[in-house]
Amino acid sequence: MGKASSSKKVARAARAGSTASSSERRDFGFPLAVFVIILLGLSLVVYSRISREATSAPRVDPQDHWHSAFGVYDCSTDSFLSDPQSQDDPDGIHSHQDGLMHIHPFNSSASGKNAQLHVFLEAMGMDIDEEAITLETGESLEAGTDCDGEEAIIQVVRWDADNLELKPDVFTEDLGDVRFRKNREAFVVALAPPGAEIEFPSSMAELDRASPSVIDPTDGGASNGGASNGGASNGGADADGSEADAGGADAESEPDPGATEVPEGE
Ligand SMILES: [Zn+2]
Ligand SMILES: [Zn+2]
Repeated sequence: MGKASSSKKVARAARAGSTASSSERRDFGFPLAVFVIILLGLSLVVYSRISREATSAPRVDPQDHWHSAFGVYDCSTDSFLSDPQSQDDPDGIHSHQDGLMHIHPFNSSASGKNAQLHVFLEAMGMDIDEEAITLETGESLEAGTDCDGEEAIIQVVRWDADNLELKPDVFTEDLGDVRFRKNREAFVVALAPPGAEIEFPSSMAELDRASPSVIDPTDGGASNGGASNGGASNGGADADGSEADAGGADAESEPDPGATEVPEGE
């Protein structure tokens, strides 16, 4: 519609230009101005399209449903802690006591670029910053803890569970803001020395059980979930969207979603 009216303007401008041709300079100037306006308009259209795609995955509606593995590693005991038990789910990024993060945003505070680790941690009654990982129990893992003579820091490690040979992303600041970018990632929230080699969370196995089909016993209205997830979730479209927005750093389209998802249903 913007386009249509723009092209009318062009036509009008062209006509105006050709009839009022007493001054050459003026004739040139007016269509040029129109052209610039049209360019601006087009670039706005393109921009809004890009930004809409950028915030689209994971989407609220139609709802995406992603799964990622989650673990908490403590170098002082060289072990993973037990899975979070909370079933709270204010925003749609939650767990079913299975060591997985189930990501199907209910609202914009948990979708698109706002689909971030802290949304999950808050639902779990946890918190993270550069000083400490606060656990559900209220206990915390503190930066500065000695691990085999090295001073541990708080970090978040993120893998693409479908490309485990790729080096993981390691975050040491803005830890709660680490984003969910696609279906099937793996995250470890860790107390460990810088550069420590951190293992995958043990819930990786659950990931294969949960993906790509949707197995959520408690997730809202089974029928609704099945239909919308089957068709629209997890697809290559999402991966493409995030790729466009993130500058291509991540998310090739997935081999798993879509194809196998539909027949399995819920
Ligand atoms: Zn799920
Ligand atoms: Zn769920």
